[in-house]
Amino acid sequence: MSAPFEALIVGGGPAGLSAALLLGRARRRVLLLDSGEQRNRLSDRVGGFLTRDGCPPRGLLRMGRQQLRAYPTLELRDAVEIISAKFCTVGFQLCSRTGEVFLGRKLLIATGVTDSPPPIPGVERFYGRGVFHCPYCDGYEQRDKVIAVYGRSKKTLALALELTGWTSRLCLVSDGAGQLRPAQRRRLAASGIALREERITALKGRGGLPRSSGPASI
Ligand SMILES: Cc1cc2nc3c(=O)[nH]c(=O)nc-3n(C[C@H](O)[C@H](O)[C@H](O)COP(=O)(O)OP(=O)(O)OC[C@H]3O[C@@H](n4cnc5c(N)ncnc54)[C@H](O)[C@@H]3O)c2cc1C
Repeated sequence: MSAPFEALIVGGGPAGLSAALLLGRARRRVLLLDSGEQRNRLSDRVGGFLTRDGCPPRGLLRMGRQQLRAYPTLELRDAVEIISAKFCTVGFQLCSRTGEVFLGRKLLIATGVTDSPPPIPGVERFYGRGVFHCPYCDGYEQRDKVIAVYGRSKKTLALALELTGWTSRLCLVSDGAGQLRPAQRRRLAASGIALREERITALKGRGGLPRSSGPASI
């Protein structure tokens, strides 16, 4: 077991790397541990991040890591998954899946969030390529295309209306009878948004993309 670090950072996505940068500039002895499953790893490009618009997610991380090399008090470990954390006399003790132990006076958790795409068979093949969750990240590249807005809750209506800023070729897919009231259905129709209430059984397509015919691909 090595001497305790001043800080342990769990997670090497943009948040963890940014924290490491600041702590490195403060000359703190820091160990960053990362299991390598950044949230947007399946995406081709980062959108809307000033100075890095269009950059591949891995490229963004590579640049971040390169900048960290200038700071000698920082140490990065890849392919390390932390499975437990507890208080100890020096501060915190972390254990990895392979049984390694790390000690640090402070602990910074930057493990991000995990997305839960709807449980439609096939969706995982397209997530981040033809299936998206954020119009501000990916909407611009899909502008003027046919877009199916999937969801069973009332929030889906708001999302469909919001998407009219990106395309007029929209279809709300409620996967069974939706929860929309008559007034909401009228609002959809008035905005030119089609409504499909059939049950969805699978998502099909080629090359990581759903069929370009849009809603019909579901
Ligand atoms: C498909 C998709 C497209 C996106 N597109 C955009 C976009 O265009 N523009 C934009 O600004 N944002 C986009 N985002 C959001 C962006 O990915 C997140 O805002 C960003 O990744 C958050 O950074 P983070 O460091 O908090 O988390 P993450 O990037 O998820 O990094 C967390 C890191 O912690 C590691 N980790 C987790 N648990 C452990 C553990 N127990 N032990 C060790 N390491 C661990 C993970 O492996 C990962 O490397 C997109 C997200 C998705 C899903």
